[in-house]
Amino acid sequence: MINSDILYNLILANKERCKEGKVADYIPGLKNANKENFGICIMDNNNKISYAGDYEKKFTIQSISKPLILMLAILDNEEDYIFSKIGMEPTGDPFNSIKKLETSFSKPFNPMINAGAIAVSSMIKGDSSEEKFNRVLDFIKKISENPNLDYDRDIYHGEKITGNRNRSMAYFMKNDGIIEGDVEEALDIYFKQCSILITAFDLAKIGLFLANNGVTSYGERVVSIHTAKLVKSLMVTCGMYDGSGEFAVKVGIPAKSGVGGGILSLVPGKMGIGVYGPALDLKGNSIGGYALLEDISNLLSLSIF
Ligand code: GLU
Repeated sequence: MINSDILYNLILANKERCKEGKVADYIPGLKNANKENFGICIMDNNNKISYAGDYEKKFTIQSISKPLILMLAILDNEEDYIFSKIGMEPTGDPFNSIKKLETSFSKPFNPMINAGAIAVSSMIKGDSSEEKFNRVLDFIKKISENPNLDYDRDIYHGEKITGNRNRSMAYFMKNDGIIEGDVEEALDIYFKQCSILITAFDLAKIGLFLANNGVTSYGERVVSIHTAKLVKSLMVTCGMYDGSGEFAVKVGIPAKSGVGGGILSLVPGKMGIGVYGPALDLKGNSIGGYALLEDISNLLSLSIF
C-alpha cells in the first residue's frame, strides 16, 4: 500500500496541472469551487488507509451517482428490463449529447451518460418522489458507510433551473416509451442525486465496496457479484465520458468521474481510490485527479489489462 507521504508528494507534483483546467460553471454552486483544492484517499482490503490534501472536502457527486443508482435500479427491476431500455455501448460523444437519441429510437447508449442515467432514475421504486430519492440516498449511505450524507439544496435548485437539456432528453425518451413513469419525477430524482455531497474519503469506501464485488467492509453483501461486475465493466468502457478509451490505456482501472471534480476508482479485489480536484479537462474529467491516478497506476502497476 502506498503511504500518505508519497500521496502528498504526488499531490504536490500534480498541483500545477489543476491550473490548466476549468471548473464547471453552468451553475453558481459549481462555479465557486476552488481550483486549487486537490485530494486523494486510498483504502485497501487490509483496512489500510492513505490520504493527502483535501480528501475530506465535500463536493457534489454529479455523474458519479450514475453507476451507484444503476446498482439500486438492478435491485429494483429485472436486469433484462433495464437493458431493454438502455444500451451498454460507449458513445464517443459528450455526456450530455442528445444526437444519438434520435437515431436509436430514444434508447440511450449506456447508463453513464445523462440520457441513460435519467432513464435509470425513472426505474427507482417508491410510492412518492421523496421516497424514491430517499432510497437512492440511503443506498449511497450504505455503500459509502457514511450515514450522514445529504444533498446540497442550492446545487439541486441550480441543476433543476438550468437542466433544460436534460429535460428535453427525458421528454424525448418519454415519447418513445423508454421512460414509462412521470418525467418530472425522474428528473427531480436525477437532479437531487447529482447534488449529493461526498468526499474523496467516501469515494474510496465506495470504490472498495465495488473492488470487493458488492460487499461492505463490515461484511454485508448489498448487490450480487454479477451486478458489481456489470457496473465495473461499464465504468471501464464509459465511465470517463468520451475520454474512457484513453483513460483505459493510460490508467487501466474502472473509474467514474463527475463534473463536481470527483473520480471514483478502484482496483478489483484490492483497493478503492477516491480523488477530488474541481478543475476539469475539456471532456469534464478532473484534470489533476486524472494525472494523479495515472502516476499512482504507473507506480503500483495497477492496470487491470
Ligand atoms: N448534473 C450534471 C448534468 O446532468 C451532471 C454532469 C456530470 O457530472 O457529468 O448535466
